[in-house]
Amino acid sequence: LKKRKIAVLGSRSVGKSSLVIQFTENQFIESYYPTIENSFTKSISYKGVDYDCEIMDTAGQVCIRDEYSILNSKHAIGIHGFVLVYSVTSRNSFDMIQIIYDKIINFCGMKEIPCVIVGSKIDLSQRSSRQVQATEVEDLAKANRAAWIETSAKNNVNVAKVFELCLAEIERKTPTK
Ligand code: GDP
Ligand code: MG
Repeated sequence: LKKRKIAVLGSRSVGKSSLVIQFTENQFIESYYPTIENSFTKSISYKGVDYDCEIMDTAGQVCIRDEYSILNSKHAIGIHGFVLVYSVTSRNSFDMIQIIYDKIINFCGMKEIPCVIVGSKIDLSQRSSRQVQATEVEDLAKANRAAWIETSAKNNVNVAKVFELCLAEIERKTPTK
């Protein structure tokens, strides 16, 4: 059994809590209080290995760029992987991803980190409300050697896949497992 601690970061209201709650509790909560920071656990089997995942849902104080409470607190100790969420309906939230990524890199003092970039709310992308194309996140992920995926927490599309990709990233990039 491997214990894995995964932090979920991103701008406010991009759907971080919805993603985490859909994954850990199999439900979509329409209005989850935006400033709640919470830890969730889920055990999953992936590629024949059993994982005990602790998932930290953060409150996304990214408007104030220097207030990354999670990265400055003792909660940050022992994080194995990062899930960085933007909404495909928000250009601004996408622009924050590189800023957050660079902050983590600096904080960890590493060249690269196990990381999945997630474009959320694709169920809304048909209604011409898409602001970020898949090719853009693909380029961003490639430039940072990260994984990427598009999801809908509402329709449970690719939700489990996010965390499987993150476990794979951790396996790939963490020398001491
Ligand atoms: P957080 O602030 O990043 O934790 O965002 P929340 O999970 O609280 O979600 C913010 C808002 O977006 C809520 O009204 C959610 O119901 C909505 N939302 C989250 N995920 C999705 C999704 O996949 N599709 C749609 N249509 N709405 C979503
Ligand atoms: Mg939240």
